[in-house]
Amino acid sequence: MFTLINLPYAPDALEPVISAQTLGFHHGKHLQGYVNNLNALLPGSRFEGLDLEEIVWLADPDGGEAPNSAVFNNAGQILNHDLYFTQFAASKEGNVPTGALAEQITRQWGSFEAFRTEFTSKGTSLFGSGWVWLAEVPGGSLVILQEPGAGNPVTKGLKPLLTFDVWEHAYYLDFQNRRPDHLNALWSIVNWDVIERRYNHSF
Ligand code: MN
Repeated sequence: MFTLINLPYAPDALEPVISAQTLGFHHGKHLQGYVNNLNALLPGSRFEGLDLEEIVWLADPDGGEAPNSAVFNNAGQILNHDLYFTQFAASKEGNVPTGALAEQITRQWGSFEAFRTEFTSKGTSLFGSGWVWLAEVPGGSLVILQEPGAGNPVTKGLKPLLTFDVWEHAYYLDFQNRRPDHLNALWSIVNWDVIERRYNHSF
């Protein structure tokens, strides 16, 4: 049985970037729905008792050992949202990464600003619903990926570090159709300590 994660901040902590109303629906309704769906699909299946990453890896309709779209979509959405909701903190000015992750970003993109521009652009240009990811390649280099639907870099053997949810449910109450404005606003609430810990955590 999977359970809904607790948010590591108050419901209004991310305002004005993400309103308490959006957070309430996104966490309390959308994510809860994926948790309920997966829990209904697991009993008696070969996925019972596995962790989320194992389920996503096996059930991947595109090359998994046990392709299953319903299981993949719901397990993937739980994994993605758990990473998403735990990577934010209250908005702050000049919010940038530090340490080894910042050095690697500068090494590959030239500057944090250039990285941020590419990441935001890939989120803006993703057609329909999905996720834009910063992921770690074994060895420590970084890559930005667009994943449609419930996609997660773990299906490609990569480690997910940072993600922006571009499903409309993530921003429609606050930004309506203005996805680029929402994505640009998110940079002030990224908790880079969390992202840095994910980067430094071994595979
Ligand atoms: Mn979402």
